[in-house]
Amino acid sequence: FVIPDFRNFCQLIDEIYTECKANTEGSVAHYIPQLARSNPEHWGVSLCTVDGQRHSLGDVNVPFTLQSCSKPLNYALALGMTGTDRIHKFVGMEPSGRYFNELVLDYNNKPHNPMINAGAIMTAALIKPTLSAADRFDYVFSLYKRLVAGEYLGFNNAVFLSERECADRNFALAYFMRENKCFPEGTRLHETLDFYFQLCSLEITAESGALIAATLANGGINPLTGDPVLTVEAVRNTLTLMHSCGMYNYSGQFAFKVGLPSKSGVSGCVLVVVPNTMGICLWSPPLDSNGNSCRSVQFCMELVSRFKFHNFDNL
Ligand code: GLN
Repeated sequence: FVIPDFRNFCQLIDEIYTECKANTEGSVAHYIPQLARSNPEHWGVSLCTVDGQRHSLGDVNVPFTLQSCSKPLNYALALGMTGTDRIHKFVGMEPSGRYFNELVLDYNNKPHNPMINAGAIMTAALIKPTLSAADRFDYVFSLYKRLVAGEYLGFNNAVFLSERECADRNFALAYFMRENKCFPEGTRLHETLDFYFQLCSLEITAESGALIAATLANGGINPLTGDPVLTVEAVRNTLTLMHSCGMYNYSGQFAFKVGLPSKSGVSGCVLVVVPNTMGICLWSPPLDSNGNSCRSVQFCMELVSRFKFHNFDNL
């Protein structure tokens, strides 16, 4: 086993969970009513090792939307279909140093990276662009279903509808990119935005999310099913950008202090990858001023203070 004394390990995880539960800082996202109604008490932690050992505690079976946690996954799936060179003709790989939804492109007139909204809208445009909207959704849904090893994956239509209703900025980003000729020829703008909102509105639970993170930790092979969902190259690229750009404007500090490729979303979810060891899904809706789940960030800090999981530990 990659974690030999799993029982003892889980006890320490439980301790960290309980410590973080006491943290009542932050407030839930409020840009759409569906998220504003989130219960700030919810706190779930689930992990899965690359050899399939699992541990979960708290609210690990309550569905929540992926939101920005879908960005690295869509990027990884797009890479598998299209390859690194083609994807990066249209989106950069540099941290933006700006807010995730800022109306700004890089010096080559590309969105900075796939982890911010502009880059994620671009990534959505690059996934099976010739398919109909319905087939595109089905196609991606079936790939996500493999990431969660057939466990919980849903779609929240109310969140989708209100994302679309309250999306002035995302529309502005898409038009700004079209004005700057960023998109590949033939891109259907509104369909691409709808697709992006749909991807944000996919639902997981902490338990099924841990399997997604574990697949990333395991070179793209789902540890429960042995299914090679993502290519090795896609995983390498994705983890690299999660490491440098995954935690909004806290990404640099998070890389420094925690040193684990991670991605957070406004629903309060964080996918954390300990490469070659395990995947963790953390979920607690209250967010800090950077937009990261308060309890989840605290959990990560505690995790690396107790275990040598920081990328540059053990050198
Ligand atoms: N749906 C949100 C948006 O596009 C997702 C952003 C996020 O999780 N930060 O604005």
